[in-house]
Amino acid sequence: MNVSIVGTGYVGLVAAACFAEMGNQVTCIDVNPTIVEQLNQGRIHIFEPGLEPLVERNRQEGRLTFTTDLAQGMADALFVFNCVGTPPNGDGSCDLRYVDQVAEAIGQTMEDYKIIVNKSTVPVGTADRVRGIIQEQLDKRQCRIEFDVVSNPEFLKEGDAVNDFLKPDRVIVGTDNVRTAKLLETLYGPFARSRDKMIVMGIRSAEMTKYAANSMLATKISFINEIANLCEKVGADIKDVRVGIGSDRRIGYHFIYPGVGYGGSCFPKDVKALIHTAREHGMTPELALSVDRVNQHQKQVLAEKIKTHFSPTPLTDKVLAIWGLAFKANTDDIRESAALDTIETLTALGMRIRAFDPVAGDNARTALAENPLVEIGQDQYSILQNADALAVLTDWNQFRNPDFARIKKQLNNPLIFDGRNLYSATMLSGFGFTYHAIGRPPII
Ligand code: NAD
Repeated sequence: MNVSIVGTGYVGLVAAACFAEMGNQVTCIDVNPTIVEQLNQGRIHIFEPGLEPLVERNRQEGRLTFTTDLAQGMADALFVFNCVGTPPNGDGSCDLRYVDQVAEAIGQTMEDYKIIVNKSTVPVGTADRVRGIIQEQLDKRQCRIEFDVVSNPEFLKEGDAVNDFLKPDRVIVGTDNVRTAKLLETLYGPFARSRDKMIVMGIRSAEMTKYAANSMLATKISFINEIANLCEKVGADIKDVRVGIGSDRRIGYHFIYPGVGYGGSCFPKDVKALIHTAREHGMTPELALSVDRVNQHQKQVLAEKIKTHFSPTPLTDKVLAIWGLAFKANTDDIRESAALDTIETLTALGMRIRAFDPVAGDNARTALAENPLVEIGQDQYSILQNADALAVLTDWNQFRNPDFARIKKQLNNPLIFDGRNLYSATMLSGFGFTYHAIGRPPII
């Protein structure tokens, strides 16, 4: 099948490579000429495990091409997937400017029947909006061309995106058109071979499903973080409490790890967009509002522990080493990362930061270029030299079982703030560390 993918970010490029891998002819279109040029040279601009070889193989075998020209890129395609970004506006609503631009350009240039697939996360009603924009452009051109608009939200997670796309838990298709649903079933057939993985529903339900799913996951995280904070107050240990509640099959172990709050380009913005949608419809979404508030608080928890520990000594005299800048492991994405919040709070108090991340260093260097108190290092251990403490903010595997003797030797004080509960308190106590984690009794 001929497929066009508009927007070659984490979602678009993964979808494109996976469709091409199944033998489809895929053209990717992006407005950013630098990205397109790099992709045409076989270099990918994002870090996503397993993606580069997949892109390269399919590019070399001629099934995957890249262009900045939408008209040319979608000329032969039956499906045009819209995978552009949908960042938040200042009021929490979803910024649909890129989605609208793509719809307008499609309407201005399409020459034959297309199925426009909204894969970006977009508020309920966006498919109708996209249909209206395309029709308006066709009317201006006085063209009578049939088209269909479908909702097909994406559920992949960064860090494991290729696996998620190749083996999805489900593929949601929102359409009222039986023929379009069948065509999408054919396209997704190789990934969703068991029939119950394809879930066809009304367009608005499909759009809502994505927000409901992300809000549910965010709720689990804020819930466990609130319980963790309470554990600290009452002298309980969240590690035990987590196991205790997760063993109940109605609750389960997934997504109840306490930490420094959820980040990334999806959960924070999608919870806020859900809140906005609810308010637009005269509803106060009490739960989503609390989930968001708890998370904003949680992103400051480690900075608070650090301030409290050093108080009343001013932080201006102190250097903090940070392991992890990405919002989670296995990605270079730093959007809404708790590490950035922590750095902002502590540098505002004059603390100096030396940070390391296995892959997100370059992105962080760009984002923090204006902050003279931050230095991003190249090596996990050398940034520790003469620092006053180590704070762990991302759960990269290489931070899980480090050389504690070396850490202790390099730091000014044997002091660790663990925002991901990676370490055994007993072991760290054996090494003579002072250790603060989340929802656990500190070792002092
Ligand atoms: P991204 O920012 O990584 O990529 C978006 C791409 O779209 C960029 O390369 C940009 O240059 C391009 N673009 C913008 N306007 C364009 C235009 N008019 N024409 C062509 N290209 C254009 O975004 P992402 O993380 O891939 O997310 C895309 C969408 O998918 C968002 O709605 C997001 O919420 C959703 N989503 C993301 C994830 C994730 O884990 N990142 C998971 C599921 C859903």
